[in-house]
Amino acid sequence: RTPSAVDAAERYTAHNYHPLPVVITEADGCWVTDVDGRRYLDFLSGYSALNFGHRHPALIAAAHAQLDRLTLTSRAFIHDQFAEFCQRLAALTGQDLVLPMNTGAEAVETAIKVARKWGYQVKGVPDGQAKIIVAADNFHGRTTTIISFSTDEDARADFGPYTPGFEIVAYGDLEALAEAIDDYTVAVLLEPIQGEAGVLVPPDGYLSGVRALCSSRNVLFLADEIQSGLARTGRTFAVDHEDVKPDMHIMGKALGGGIVPVSAVAASREVLGVLKPGQHGSTFGGNPLSCAVGIEVIKLLETGEYQQRSAQLGAMLHEQLRALIGRGVTAVRGRGLWAGVDIDPGVMTGRQASEKLMTRGMLAKDTHGTTIRLAPPLVIEEDEITWAVRQLAEVIGAA
Ligand code: PLP
Repeated sequence: RTPSAVDAAERYTAHNYHPLPVVITEADGCWVTDVDGRRYLDFLSGYSALNFGHRHPALIAAAHAQLDRLTLTSRAFIHDQFAEFCQRLAALTGQDLVLPMNTGAEAVETAIKVARKWGYQVKGVPDGQAKIIVAADNFHGRTTTIISFSTDEDARADFGPYTPGFEIVAYGDLEALAEAIDDYTVAVLLEPIQGEAGVLVPPDGYLSGVRALCSSRNVLFLADEIQSGLARTGRTFAVDHEDVKPDMHIMGKALGGGIVPVSAVAASREVLGVLKPGQHGSTFGGNPLSCAVGIEVIKLLETGEYQQRSAQLGAMLHEQLRALIGRGVTAVRGRGLWAGVDIDPGVMTGRQASEKLMTRGMLAKDTHGTTIRLAPPLVIEEDEITWAVRQLAEVIGAA
């Protein structure tokens, strides 16, 4: 059944993705099953949307219960799940206010709009002059404004005219950032670890340096934790590794438990308070189903169990992966259960490695030609990690 389902998908959809030829029909925890009954260990987790695994019982129960009661009110009315979700997320981030949206890109758009308005109304930047500083090789989503400041030509070419008001500096370079900040700068928007770029971890002290620079120059630090946040790196947020509190947490992916698209920004009253009725919104943002699932997601995070699993099992994953360096692997980066593995281009491409892993029952995805990203659900067990690394070793000829 797989070939005909792959053909049908090719025939009726825009080719804006290049998926592996696997057609999944069921999943549970870390494992998925295809239409021909083959099982695969999921080492992508929906780009970290499935941090708690597929169909976590507490999340599924919350979704079912909510489906039986109420699914949508729009923000024209208040529903009974809304305040609890926002209150819990404010507490988790240590911020005052929360604004829920649906997709990651929408949350980033929200951050950009809020930062600009804060710049004009609070900082006093002259109208139309606000500047936001971003990093080279960033990935923040796919809207026209967001791709305007991408450095990836595939993401950007032929989609202009582009939105102005952004300056790009090298990632990890505090001096470049300090130089770029001027009186019109309202915000610095960064991924604390760059995911799509290949799981690039900035140098130690970078995030705390960004925090210090932003504080001293009256600029907002907007942390895009959409992929790095919610326990993926072994802490609740990747900025926590440097004890940094950004002015805004931008969240998505795992916030919806892999069930519903849920994103949000969280910030202080001074920052998010600039929005007044009619100035921003979304029909589905903060809907009852999203909030019900989101509340359970936050409860799972409140236990600390997933952060701990990611830290402990991540150390094991990285140790096993590092043993492959020089044997078909040229570099390993990352934190917690999140790794970017560079395959020696003389051995094979990332795509070829992903395809070979698939035939052995392991699902991972390449990025930028030679890198494979590994991000299993945080419910993965030790022996499954060892098995997966052995598959990779055998595929690249290291075993
Ligand atoms: N920001 C980061 C850091 C991401 O990794 C992603 C998605 O991969 C996004 C934003 C965009 O999220 P979405 O695809 O939900 O719009």
